[in-house]
Amino acid sequence: MSAIPYRQYANFESAAKEPTVKAQPLVSVIIPFLNEADVLAVCHRRVCEALSKLQQYCEIIYIDDGSNDNSWKMVSQFKHPLHQIRSLRLSRNFGKEAAMSAGMKAASGRCVILLDADLQDPPEYIPDMVQAWQDGAQVVEMQRRERHGESWVKRTTAHCFYRFMSKISNHPITENVGDFRLMDQKVVNVINTLPERTRFMKGLLAWPGFTRKVLTFDRDPRLAGDTKWNYPKLIHLALEGITSFSTKPLRWATMAGLTTSAIAFIMALIIFTKTIVWGDPVAGYPSTILVVLFLGGIQLLSIGVLGEYVGRLFIESKQRPLYVLMEDAMTKPTFKYSDS
Ligand code: UDP
Ligand code: MG
Repeated sequence: MSAIPYRQYANFESAAKEPTVKAQPLVSVIIPFLNEADVLAVCHRRVCEALSKLQQYCEIIYIDDGSNDNSWKMVSQFKHPLHQIRSLRLSRNFGKEAAMSAGMKAASGRCVILLDADLQDPPEYIPDMVQAWQDGAQVVEMQRRERHGESWVKRTTAHCFYRFMSKISNHPITENVGDFRLMDQKVVNVINTLPERTRFMKGLLAWPGFTRKVLTFDRDPRLAGDTKWNYPKLIHLALEGITSFSTKPLRWATMAGLTTSAIAFIMALIIFTKTIVWGDPVAGYPSTILVVLFLGGIQLLSIGVLGEYVGRLFIESKQRPLYVLMEDAMTKPTFKYSDS
């Protein structure tokens, strides 16, 4: 069913008395958050302002990823006269990737936009993204031009990681594009069917393909509060990304094994010949220990790489749900809008 235009919908008085009259929202904005009580009110206001420019019935879905501050109380009370506000509460912190998956499962809009609650992804770009989608793009990726408020180390490591990922992954992941993006309902339906538990979202979101458009934007600093990411978490995310989207590290381990075996074989031949033909004594302790350490290192590294993949298999085989919903609150539009 196509969305009812805003103006017409606003005058649709009978809808208030007839709760079964349902229109499909044009856009579902998905906002996962963890302890963001300081920014949620401003976030809600700015998202609503951006949506009002579309003049269409929309939906905002907040996902509380196990906050222990006032955040849930705030979002579950948000309402809007023309838009549907849905708040999902996960039973504990499952991570942003799981929270976004919960939002995408719940979304009913004709397209879906993923947004951070801390306003680093400015909601003011929503109308441009929707325009690009209406012009035919099924995925609108928002590429960061500047990353204000982020340290040099974070910017450089993020840049290197994205480059590395797009080199080793079997399908392209656009550089410097985070989760902030618009996806057509068709794309979201595909992502919802991907069953994996270890979810590297940037890869999963890129996996279905479809027609893409890249828009650039300047990433703002966080409005308030601290980032929920630290380096151990980021390293975990990077390993997750690499092992869930490529088997190339396993190939590298095999290649390293083959190369060292070949070198060892050639060296053995040389040493053997030298000893037999010229009667040279075998070179001493330093070279032996170096070779032993080198081979030991390569072996341990390869076992570690193998272990990463086996670990992922173990987690996948348990088939646990991605997240557990604890509460689900919905405020329907009140249809009180006057067109005068
Ligand atoms: N977030 C979440 N669950 C987590 C960590 C973060 O839902 O376990 C949310 C967070 O509240 C914010 C968004 O994900 O809305 C991005 O997180 P953050 O700003 O901390 O990351 P950064 O922008 O520094 O990469
Ligand atoms: Mg942030």
